[in-house]
Amino acid sequence: NELASMMDVQVTQVISTCMSLGMFVSINQRLDAETLTIVADEFGYEIEFVKPQDEEASLDEPDAPESLVARAPIVTIMGHVDHGKTSLLDFIRKTNVTAGEAGGITQHIGAYDVTVSGNRKITFLDTPGHEAFTAMRARGAQVTDVVIIVIAADDSVMPQTREAINHAQAAGAPIIFAFNKMDRPGANADKIREQLSAMNILVEEWGGKYQTQEISAKQGLNIDLLLEKVLLEAEILDLKANPDKRAVGTVIEAALDKGRGIVTTILVQAGTLSVGDPILAGCYSGRVKALTDARGQRVNSVGPSIPVQVLGMQGAPTAGDKFNSLENEVEAREIANKRLQLQREQGLRTQKHITLDEIGRRLAIGNFKELNIIVKGDVDGSIEALSDSLLKLSTDQIQVNVISKAVGQISESDVLLASASDAIIIGFQVRPSGGARKLAEQEQIDIRLYSIIYDAINEIRDAMEGMLAPTF
Ligand code: GDP
Repeated sequence: NELASMMDVQVTQVISTCMSLGMFVSINQRLDAETLTIVADEFGYEIEFVKPQDEEASLDEPDAPESLVARAPIVTIMGHVDHGKTSLLDFIRKTNVTAGEAGGITQHIGAYDVTVSGNRKITFLDTPGHEAFTAMRARGAQVTDVVIIVIAADDSVMPQTREAINHAQAAGAPIIFAFNKMDRPGANADKIREQLSAMNILVEEWGGKYQTQEISAKQGLNIDLLLEKVLLEAEILDLKANPDKRAVGTVIEAALDKGRGIVTTILVQAGTLSVGDPILAGCYSGRVKALTDARGQRVNSVGPSIPVQVLGMQGAPTAGDKFNSLENEVEAREIANKRLQLQREQGLRTQKHITLDEIGRRLAIGNFKELNIIVKGDVDGSIEALSDSLLKLSTDQIQVNVISKAVGQISESDVLLASASDAIIIGFQVRPSGGARKLAEQEQIDIRLYSIIYDAINEIRDAMEGMLAPTF
């Protein structure tokens, strides 16, 4: 109906055009971008899309360069299970409490900030692992500035170590490797350096770009040096934010507390959040009733890179949701309601991911430049062969990227990565787990399974040449 009135044609004409494309639509149905383009084209119109992000962007005020000041880096710790992520987070939490500061960091709110030497600050996300990291990215949140990947030096580079590396690289986040458990007799950091170099990851000591630090999370050995390296990485990144505007940030956690109502942990990324500010996060709005920092202290306001617990949201947003403070509560409520309505109409998914069938359509529209692929397989050799052949399919128009390749069945974390990076997943002689299959359906991720390498390559090539018949 809306499209028809924009084009000034009868709504029945639009409906019958959709029917000729094989789509039976009702008068109030929302059409996806591709269908809109094709239908409009039939009537001689060209469609220009205003992305929802643009509307969101208007909630954030642009910054004058002189308004920007340095902010603390935000760090996520990843690595294989039992390699020492939690121990490292705990050690930093316990020790880096500056003198005179009231209490320690006793409660878990999802993130904490510490002051290190030279009165500099670092903020840690308190849920280690690449799943949480990529789940946030899949919701469009870019929070982490630096990733620490912990590898137990008495063990080896393990499957989840590789996954963590892939996930961090797909996010474009700089990585620092912490070789942990150096107190153990069997620890051999050089062996780990060698295994990394076999994956084309060359550490600094060997002339590469990756910083490393040998540590013992249990004994607290060299953690200060590790934190220095985080600060060095942060300096290179030149992290800045404008503290003098309405706050913008990301939801880290949200929960219902019996006594206090909805408790939301928010990481302020720019601006300053104060008690009394009207706020908006995901489909919910509210007004800040109280702010509590990671040490359990009430505060009146917080600036960039500082995590804080907020009381006063009307409903619980989801981790990874953007949050904004607005000038007035009515506006916040209106936007929240609009989002809630859109979510109801469209189901949970608002963003559509790439599928092989869709490449032809996107090519026709002319906005398709990169094809991201995740390759999972049964043995290393075939994964390498398949990945190499896929990379060679790149043309002047489309760049093929293999953003992750690994041995093993297709996992939920692969699906999350695909969702965060708009990728398709290719399984060679492997299948998705039950959970991965369900999540893929929900996130609308295209998983293709092959048992012959040539089939995989031919099908992708056909798709890239726009040869796969589009399905409407
Ligand atoms: P996570 O699964 O990566 O979070 O690993 P944890 O932090 O839970 O550590 C797994 C086990 O390794 C625990 O029993 C820790 O006490 C132990 N551990 C962690 N760091 C060190 C270390 O530096 N040295 C030694 N000897 N043990 C450690």
